[in-house]
Amino acid sequence: MTSSTRSATEDRTEIEAVDVAAMRDLGNVLCVVAHPDDESLFAGLTIAALTRAELSCTVAAVSHGELRLVPFASRGPGRFLPRRLREQYCSTIEAEFTLACLRLGAIGTILGFPDLPVVSEEAQSRLVRLVSRLLDHEKPDLLLTHGSSGEYGHAMHVAVHVAVRRAIRASVGAYRTWTFGAQPPSIDAKWFNRRDQATHCVTGDGLLGAKKAAISAYRSSSDTHRRIYGDDPATKLGIEYWARMR
Ligand SMILES: [Zn+2]
Repeated sequence: MTSSTRSATEDRTEIEAVDVAAMRDLGNVLCVVAHPDDESLFAGLTIAALTRAELSCTVAAVSHGELRLVPFASRGPGRFLPRRLREQYCSTIEAEFTLACLRLGAIGTILGFPDLPVVSEEAQSRLVRLVSRLLDHEKPDLLLTHGSSGEYGHAMHVAVHVAVRRAIRASVGAYRTWTFGAQPPSIDAKWFNRRDQATHCVTGDGLLGAKKAAISAYRSSSDTHRRIYGDDPATKLGIEYWARMR
């Protein structure tokens, strides 16, 4: 059997499966993602497990993910969406995001940062300031966010990872930070961050229903999810591998 054909279930034994229920006394959890749906796809099981342990969890989506409306070939500086189309999209995604977070037992908030195809150093600095203000406000005991390669190289995912890293470095708070899509020892998937070695995972059949329900809240993105993750994204992403940032 080659390493790429080993099942995720086999691999689970090689790294620590976290007993999230034992984290009951932890306090507040904050999940910072680039777009609505990232929390459900990459962290849905974990968020559901944490909120079932009665931890308070806020999901902050930096942007509305409005770039989904622009075909890849047309993306670039100076491309603007018609205002009414953008407004219609935003109200749809806000409703879907709220429902998805609710199904995970979390509170969702969208910060309204632009969804950028390329993140300049100036935009990155603005994002660091935004995340710093968020951390000052939320003071989380556990922070969940994107991996260092943006899972599959997504510029906004990478920018959020960098913003969180810089914000916690500049902060006086002692944040416990986990990054998702971490690379387990002997299986592969296109959404693993190769430089982030998995240190632990969250799994559990009893949580899969919550993750499925959250992903299915994104009705406007179901074709995209199917194209990237197949017919059953929740099962495909049914073990969540994490790396500790600090
Ligand atoms: Zn995303």
